[in-house]
Amino acid sequence: MRTAPAESLRFGERYAHLRDRRLAAVLIREDATEDREELSALERISCHVHRRWAHECISSPTHVIAVTGHRWCRPCEAEATVAVDELTGDVSVACTRCGQSPATPATRQILRTCRASLAAAIENRRPR
Ligand SMILES: [Zn+2]
Ligand SMILES: [Zn+2]
Repeated sequence: MRTAPAESLRFGERYAHLRDRRLAAVLIREDATEDREELSALERISCHVHRRWAHECISSPTHVIAVTGHRWCRPCEAEATVAVDELTGDVSVACTRCGQSPATPATRQILRTCRASLAAAIENRRPR
């Protein structure tokens, strides 16, 4: 996937100030793909709200969605936290009450998207 010039025009202004231009390119691409209804907001590896990589802002209260089970433990009706290890690339989810990782599609989605965004961010830092 690449960023088409038309997409940059339409979605790029919001990210004009971002110093990380690779992140900006992913944000623009995902905004455009989501706009075409080809990508779920919850499958993104970049966050439209916080203008960051998904793993960088997953700890924000905005990313607790009790209805879908994102960062939410249903049995406890409690929030779950996400631990991100930038060195090993490991991501884990744990309920603040029972300590278990909620075995739900939402948790698997968080693990998948955060691991992918971590990998993309590390790729961006690599000298080229
Ligand atoms: Zn966010
Ligand atoms: Zn729990």
